[in-house]
Amino acid sequence: MMAGKSMDPWSQRITEEEMARLKEEFGIEEYSVEMLEGLDPPALFRRGLIAGHRGFRTVLKRIRSGRAFYVMSGLMPSGRMHFGHKLVIDQIRFYSRFTNMIHIGVADVEAYATRGVSFSEAFKLATEEYLLNYVALGLPWEKFRIYFQSRHGTVQRLAFVLGRRTNLSTATSIYGFGGSTNLTHVLSPLVQASDILHPQLVHGPIPGVVPVGLDQDPHMRFTRDLAQAFRLFSVQEEGERIAIYQKGEGNHIDQLLHSLEGRYTVESAIFLSDREEEAKGKVMKAYTGGRATAEEQRKLGGEPERCPVYDLFRLHLIEDDHHLTEIEKECRGGKRLCGPCKKEAAELLTSFLKELREKREAAGESEEFKEALRDLKELGEHPPTEEWAPQV
Ligand code: SF4
Repeated sequence: MMAGKSMDPWSQRITEEEMARLKEEFGIEEYSVEMLEGLDPPALFRRGLIAGHRGFRTVLKRIRSGRAFYVMSGLMPSGRMHFGHKLVIDQIRFYSRFTNMIHIGVADVEAYATRGVSFSEAFKLATEEYLLNYVALGLPWEKFRIYFQSRHGTVQRLAFVLGRRTNLSTATSIYGFGGSTNLTHVLSPLVQASDILHPQLVHGPIPGVVPVGLDQDPHMRFTRDLAQAFRLFSVQEEGERIAIYQKGEGNHIDQLLHSLEGRYTVESAIFLSDREEEAKGKVMKAYTGGRATAEEQRKLGGEPERCPVYDLFRLHLIEDDHHLTEIEKECRGGKRLCGPCKKEAAELLTSFLKELREKREAAGESEEFKEALRDLKELGEHPPTEEWAPQV
């Protein structure tokens, strides 16, 4: 499942035209919330976050029939966790209603290869910043397994095996490697592909869902192609043919995504560990979809579809559809002005962050966290695979 951008609320949305092109030319399948009918998805699934998918129907069939599937997600331990990262956890929490096979890979090899983050720094960030926030955001301890790429023998061995079906020119066309790219960096996409596929060595050949931003689509295609090439990990549902449609040269999509990427830079990320006052300040300083003056705003109305403050309401702060529709109407109709609107968002945000901080502190003192830290230090994973591996 792919979010329509790099999943940060402080960025613009992808246009319908661009999305149509991604679907038509590159075979990203259309998502609509009706696909999840009867599953009581949280608000973000019906508010334009999910832009498309590749092969999600296979997982959906499993959800509906109560059969096994896994969720794979990764975290890059190179910076603090912001609200864009939170959206991934919000999605995973939904899937956790239907599966307890949730894998979280800490991409410390990638962070080391591409950003020079040391393994000890990565450990500290992954456990104290990410793991605590995941639990504080409601991911149940008993439903997920967390591991470090650098410490996981199966992931590394599988990456080595997957490399057998990858040549340098394919990897270069996808990832833009050049003569000065170091070889650890060249290896890291294989490790990521291995992250995504290795749960099938743990649970057997079952399908998985990987929530990512649209900018990760080249990597998803790379991994799906590798799985297809090996045929070890193909997911075949009886009576249904699964195909990957792709027109044109693979690197065209990368050019398009690259051209979109510049527009999605994070202007001023709000981090989950921001102090309440700090986060409030960011909201009050944020650009909006409002007009230049209050008078113009009253006359012309605002543009919530361009407004990151509205996105905060839409994706994080307001669950009630009726309330959200009211805000949208008031904004468009010029009844709502940006100053008080930001204040309202800031208040909701600070109470959310306060509650999250308290949950994070409680999680940090829990026995589960102490046990996870011990396992991660000694084994590089928690819980150890052989103790955990749920039976399919
Ligand atoms: Fe955004 Fe609120 Fe201003 Fe509308 S009124 S543009 S939602 S800040």
